[in-house]
Amino acid sequence: METNPANSTGLAPGKRQVVGRLRPVSISPNTGPGRGTRPSPDSTWNLRGEVAGAIVVLRAQVAWSRASCSRFPARPAAAHAQMHPTMTELQRPTLTLPDNGQRLLLHSCCAPCSGEVMEAITASGIDYAIFFYNPNIHPVKEYELRKQENIRFAEQHGIPFIDCDYDTDNWFSRARGMENEPERGIRCTMCFDMRFERTALYAHEHGYDTISSSLGISRWKNMAQINDCGVRAASHYEGLQYWDYNWRKGGGASRMVEISKREQFYQQEYCGCVYSLRDANRHRRENGRERIKIGLLYYGQDNDAASSD
Ligand code: SF4
Repeated sequence: METNPANSTGLAPGKRQVVGRLRPVSISPNTGPGRGTRPSPDSTWNLRGEVAGAIVVLRAQVAWSRASCSRFPARPAAAHAQMHPTMTELQRPTLTLPDNGQRLLLHSCCAPCSGEVMEAITASGIDYAIFFYNPNIHPVKEYELRKQENIRFAEQHGIPFIDCDYDTDNWFSRARGMENEPERGIRCTMCFDMRFERTALYAHEHGYDTISSSLGISRWKNMAQINDCGVRAASHYEGLQYWDYNWRKGGGASRMVEISKREQFYQQEYCGCVYSLRDANRHRRENGRERIKIGLLYYGQDNDAASSD
């Protein structure tokens, strides 16, 4: 399992350790800043505050969001995680990293998507850590909901969790001009690129030879688009590879839902960014449904709805 340098620092269990600072990453030509203009609250979207809220959060977070990653030390897995059937009794194939990879940095977008991925990797005995870098998620309340339960789940399984926090100004800068792009379009390519670039940089600086992500397990995502971004990010560093394992196959997609219900994970109702929230609410309005209420739905409740991530 993960060698844990934090153990030698004398940190109390659960205490965060700042282990590195991120440098600016290269920006691919199709996703760079300077495209279009930042949306204004009185733009034609007429979406009752979502975009205005984005700008407020953007400004509020700048002072603390830049460029540091914190690592939660690994702890022994909780007893119920060790005992649970999905960890011990299920006949899973034993996964191995491609090309004799030894150490995996797994980008996680949220607990529901990473739950099955983590259990599959853990059951295979692969040395790995979770990397949470998702500055796309808006608003901060939604971001914290998704992150905190991902931390909780990692702690249950004794997996190190690297919290590479909330770089929203860069995300909005790179999203300029793509505000009205559809999901699965070029804004999403930018969004995946940005998250993989940070994952690859951290992996390169901290001795991981393989990166992957939970993003591809969602049926709402374009797996080829995600894999292209992962390969592109890893290609910047010699000795770093992207693992394009299909997490949906072999029942992975349905186990993702099972685990989410078992753990009663928060059930997000849009992909993550302010624009996906806007579009989801627009769709709801057109179909006579209420706007999304953040923090309301949890898997395993009677009012289950299809997740958007
Ligand atoms: S829809 Fe999802 S993947 Fe696309 S830009 Fe928004 S948060 Fe990123």
